[in-house]
Amino acid sequence: MLKCAVCGGPMVGDAGFYTCINKKKHLKKCTNNKMSSANLDRNVLSFVKSTLLDRTHFEKVIASTKKAYQEEIKKTSKDAKRLQKQIVEIDAKIERNMILFERGTIKAEIIEQRIIKLEAEKQEIEETLQNDQNIITAVEIAESELNDKAIKSYIDKFEELLDDSNEDLMRNFLQTFIHKIELHGRENGKRKSRRLVNIHGFIPTLTGITFASPRGVEPLLQDRKS
Ligand SMILES: [Zn+2]
Repeated sequence: MLKCAVCGGPMVGDAGFYTCINKKKHLKKCTNNKMSSANLDRNVLSFVKSTLLDRTHFEKVIASTKKAYQEEIKKTSKDAKRLQKQIVEIDAKIERNMILFERGTIKAEIIEQRIIKLEAEKQEIEETLQNDQNIITAVEIAESELNDKAIKSYIDKFEELLDDSNEDLMRNFLQTFIHKIELHGRENGKRKSRRLVNIHGFIPTLTGITFASPRGVEPLLQDRKS
């Protein structure tokens, strides 16, 4: 989960510090510095806490999730309309062939073959259309569940999980929420300087769909000890 932002290698725990594995094992030339693991853990946790437990943040996440849902509904509805139009066209073709059959101008077997082909085509489109309609229904339900009550229940849940007395649970939770942390080197190699930590996370919604936050979050951390 923790990556070196200088060379892209994984960072590993080493006697109270996180160190780039490429640097430690001399696998690659890397200039990144090690960082006190207690310091990084504490900073990441306090950042995640202050971000996650902030109501405005929740509202933003929910608004952007709603927007994504609405776009999905719009896109799928457009596709459903296109499929409905195709079905109407196929029905018209079948109808024309029935007229030809009644007039007896074309052999009955040829007409029959054409109609079988058209019916198969129609069935396939109807299945795709049904799938589209299922997606629309599911997304509409998910969207309706995103309301003020949902925001409150989120905040309550996170508050409970991020309780300091619950360290193991909290760590597990953070691992499902965060998929990557990138640790940058010191600015200009100075000893006392700020270091950038990029945290890339998912926001799990109540419906269990994982949703990537648009840009990830980028706090600047003060590297006090190492
Ligand atoms: Zn590295």
